[in-house]
Amino acid sequence: MRIGMQEKSSARHTSNGEASNSSSFLSRFGSKSRGSAIPTEESTVSIRDTEALELLRNYEETELGWFWATDENGRITYITESFAEVLGSTASALVDTSFLDLFPRDATEDDSSRSLPFLFAKRTKFIELAVRSKQDDDDEHWWAISGIPQLDHAHNFKGYRGVGTDITEQRRSSATTERLALCDPLTGLANRTAISQELEKTLQAYQTQKSSCSIMLLDLDRFKVVNDSLGHPAGDELLKQVSSRLKHVVGDAGKIARIGGDEFQILLPTWRDKAALAGLADEIIQVVSHPYSIEEGRCIIGVSIGIAISPFDGDNSKKLIKNADIALYAAKSAGKGQHYFFTEELEDLAEQRRILEQDLGDAIANGGLKLVYQPIVDVESSSVVSFEALMRWNHPERGPISPAVFIPIAEETNLIVGLGRWALQQACLTAKEWPEGIRVSVNVSPVQLADEHFLEDLEKVLSETGLKPDRLEIEVTESVFLEESATSDTIFADIKQIGVRLALDDFGTGYSSLSYLQNSPFDKIKVDQSFIRGARKPGSKSEAIIAAIVALANALGAKTTAEGLETLDELDWIKDLKVDQVQGYVFSKPLEASDIKSQFSEGNWTARAVGPKAQRADRISLFRRIKLFHEEEQFEAVIRNISSSGALIEGLEDVPVGTDFTIDFGERKIVDCTVKRAKGNQIGVAFKDELIRDGDGAYCPKREYQNFKGNKRGKKPKFSGKESAN
Ligand code: C2E
Ligand code: MG
Ligand code: MG
Repeated sequence: MRIGMQEKSSARHTSNGEASNSSSFLSRFGSKSRGSAIPTEESTVSIRDTEALELLRNYEETELGWFWATDENGRITYITESFAEVLGSTASALVDTSFLDLFPRDATEDDSSRSLPFLFAKRTKFIELAVRSKQDDDDEHWWAISGIPQLDHAHNFKGYRGVGTDITEQRRSSATTERLALCDPLTGLANRTAISQELEKTLQAYQTQKSSCSIMLLDLDRFKVVNDSLGHPAGDELLKQVSSRLKHVVGDAGKIARIGGDEFQILLPTWRDKAALAGLADEIIQVVSHPYSIEEGRCIIGVSIGIAISPFDGDNSKKLIKNADIALYAAKSAGKGQHYFFTEELEDLAEQRRILEQDLGDAIANGGLKLVYQPIVDVESSSVVSFEALMRWNHPERGPISPAVFIPIAEETNLIVGLGRWALQQACLTAKEWPEGIRVSVNVSPVQLADEHFLEDLEKVLSETGLKPDRLEIEVTESVFLEESATSDTIFADIKQIGVRLALDDFGTGYSSLSYLQNSPFDKIKVDQSFIRGARKPGSKSEAIIAAIVALANALGAKTTAEGLETLDELDWIKDLKVDQVQGYVFSKPLEASDIKSQFSEGNWTARAVGPKAQRADRISLFRRIKLFHEEEQFEAVIRNISSSGALIEGLEDVPVGTDFTIDFGERKIVDCTVKRAKGNQIGVAFKDELIRDGDGAYCPKREYQNFKGNKRGKKPKFSGKESAN
């Protein structure tokens, strides 16, 4: 059949007045053929010509390529049978039909100047043009075709001759490679490269159209715990399920990518409305937080989201992503499981934090931190039984900075490992000077505890300082159970093994789970000061909760310490509840190491309660970072306690009584106030408007501002203290 067809096509060539043999076909086709052994003289119909024809036939038979020829009108005069078969036809059926009709109009991928119809119209030579053939079946076939225009002796166009090869497989594999390069193989979502390209393209297009788009950065909360405790296959399965939930919520509204381990990015073209974005973010948080069922067990994770809107928060991808990341960071530090929009204030805070981070590194290197020690008193005997070591940092320009501010920074930068080691060493050295029975408690951060050298360091400190292990107590908070590592049980057992005691700090503020207590060998439970503070309120459940904690501790053979007692009333009340020990200003504030030794006469120190009789109404102790604005200046400080009418603020020195401030509580909540008292680095302020209680019982201002910008850059501060970095 194939041979027959060729014979037919040869006849046509003759009728067109063109060369009647294949040697001429090849001689005119291209440089590659021209250099071959095939004869070029039309007159010499020789054995070589026959051989050349034979070669062409053989080549066709290999199906590595095919030949085609048209007349001046683009009608097929010759086509290789095997190619016709792929198209579901035969060579004879195709002869006399339009060559261009074998390929759909959009068959070429390049611009129209390289399209097959265009080239045909221009009658120009083309080499390896990629085209798709028209076919009835669903299979897509791609071909690289080359064509040389044929001219007669008078240079009139007589049609095309050319070759084609099948490039379907080649294209398929390069499409797969391309797809793989842009795709996250685990979840099938786009990867970082793909979403970055997409964002770049969108932003460029929108710059001309003056349109908006938004991005959300997502970071899963507690993913690492699942990964560590249930294993990596479980982690992978979880990521897949999260991805499909995300796809379900986002739908066609945006493009989702997995850009790192447990980080996702969503690009939302045309989205700019904050209410709509907040709605979507909340829905994502809700859906991702539902329990997951995987082969290895059930688990719950959460997600934090940072949102940035272009062009307001950045008109290029780098800035937009950086700002979404700042918002994500804020969402994470505000307690996870929430969304934050980028704001300039967050950017300022991030910058301040960056500076503080550097300063903290310098302070650690230059011995700028110290420990103070707060007595812990036995309720029965009123004798001081131990001290809690608390870290202090007096910043050379900003004054004292609360550990509630700098410890989290140290944790994030991993400075905490060295800092914590130093604190342990220092506390043990100091305690060594105290009478035998007196213990020292040291706060240890979960990050420190997760450090692989922690135990080694601990043993080294004990042997270097010579402090008996039993005199050292390590305080950990409940967050240790939630940290992104699942190693706490083992490390607790190891700590106990060397004879060091364990205390659970701030009990009741975190995610208290009784199973933690049951499984962990705590010697002491410290009842958080929020229970003491809230206890006097009508309807307060604090009393019942403390009684339950005491009963629980007794059952587990652990002691109880009540933290943050400030008044004589609180002390009486806590005595009735049978709490073992008390720590609070009612007995003593934290003391310098040098002031302690002398207090122990004959090895004993009986503490005397000296606090006020009762708390002023509705005053709540807390550590809350705030910004203060005075005229053109901005400061950072910490609220230590607050009521509806005023607050005690720490971190500003030399502030004259009568100074007016505006306090920014974040989330656009502000209140004006006046300084009524000032002592050391603390000021007492009275609010101009009473605060209200929010749904969680926390105080917050009634006023919300829209465009409050309380400071300008470059102004010198009037007060020493923690001036904001901008
Ligand atoms: P914490 O371990 O719960 O320490 C008790 C905090 O309550 C201390 O705050 C202490 O000064 C304060 N306090 C004690 N009695 C009273 C009272 O009667 N009224 C009021 N309003 N407060 C009272 P401080 O020293 O500012 O420390 C805050 C937190 O910073 C500590 O809470 C602890 O979590 C962390 N921290 C402090 N030093 C270190 C340290 O060396 N390492 C680590 N990892 N964290 C530390
Ligand atoms: Mg503590
Ligand atoms: Mg505590």
